Amino acid sequence: MAVKEGRALWVESQQDGILRGGYGPEDVKQIIDNAKDLGVNMLLWLVKARMADTAPALWYPSEIGLSHEACYDYDSFGDAVKMAHDSGIEVHAYFSVFTEGDIEAETVRGKKAPLVEHPEWAVVDRQGHRSEFVCASHVGYREYLGSILREIMDKYSVDGISIDFIRYPRSPCFCENCKENLKKKFGLTVDQIVDLLAGKGFSLLDPEHLSAALDRAGAVINYYNQNVHEAVEYFHTIVKSYSQDIKLSAGVFPNPRTAPSQVYCDWVGFTEFLDFVCPMVYWYSPDYYRQVIARLQASIREGTKLYPGISALGVPHALAGENINYLTKAPDMAYVARLVDIARDVGVPGIAIFQYGTIFGLEPGAYTGRKWGTPVAGDIQMLYERFTEPAIPAHAD
Ligand SMILES: [Zn+2]
Repeated sequence: MAVKEGRALWVESQQDGILRGGYGPEDVKQIIDNAKDLGVNMLLWLVKARMADTAPALWYPSEIGLSHEACYDYDSFGDAVKMAHDSGIEVHAYFSVFTEGDIEAETVRGKKAPLVEHPEWAVVDRQGHRSEFVCASHVGYREYLGSILREIMDKYSVDGISIDFIRYPRSPCFCENCKENLKKKFGLTVDQIVDLLAGKGFSLLDPEHLSAALDRAGAVINYYNQNVHEAVEYFHTIVKSYSQDIKLSAGVFPNPRTAPSQVYCDWVGFTEFLDFVCPMVYWYSPDYYRQVIARLQASIREGTKLYPGISALGVPHALAGENINYLTKAPDMAYVARLVDIARDVGVPGIAIFQYGTIFGLEPGAYTGRKWGTPVAGDIQMLYERFTEPAIPAHAD
């Protein structure tokens, strides 16, 4: 009798392989075989990239959006779903939602990058610079993503859709849509909003005026959060109207106290739409990891499973050695194994390891790069030992 425990592994090595060239079924089989031997029970397989200057955003042969050219010759995602299912492993199509890959990617098969066709969708900063992020306020972009989700669910028998980058970049947006909305709803100009969000002059205000200024800032922050919230609700409606059996999950910033104000991602607020959630609790010291995941476990609703992320990455955090919350050095296999033990000790229903290539010793590639692709040092045997007991995902019905 198998235990119930989510054991997820993010997989991005296929992007490195496809960009290297000559990617084929034996490469996909290697990933599935390794995942099966390790004892994980679900793969979060990347099908839509974050911003990257390497290629278009999509990594399966889409008829709707712009995919990497090689995906039309060999559909590695299709093989991944089939081979994983033959091995009893779930596959969740993993999307970077509001990022658009290389926005200057060349046209493939007559299709252009969405931000080339719709420059008005881009997040615009206060200087008027457009980014590779799309602003969550654009209903047209939500509908485009909805058509991509439907295409994925039509073509492949996926077990779930996993969304990442479900947020703004670390800045507010002043696209035409946002400027108009913020003016109409709150009577605020771009300069006023920038000052409010920076707390400019707040130290000079008396309590009553400070209170009003904080309420104004709060309304702006809530506006951006609400755009993201509505997008997640829309994806939930699409996925669940397609099939109740397809799970919706998200990778999110780990700190729910700061995510709504820093990147406008109030994910505790949208867990009502999620079957499981993976806060990316990366590079945390073991003590801080324990504290944070215990707090998260107590704060999210019962129907949403918490599978905290574990950074199996061979590079140190920028604050390593100077901030007690972070690991003092690069993670290694002993750290990864210890966090699995802590997660079980706290009683969360599973974990999610980032990522396949770094625990199986692959070198960083053109997509993963040094930060997200450097292997962890140490013996992977420590992980095998923790997953010897068969497990089905905790979200399984
Ligand atoms: Zn905007």
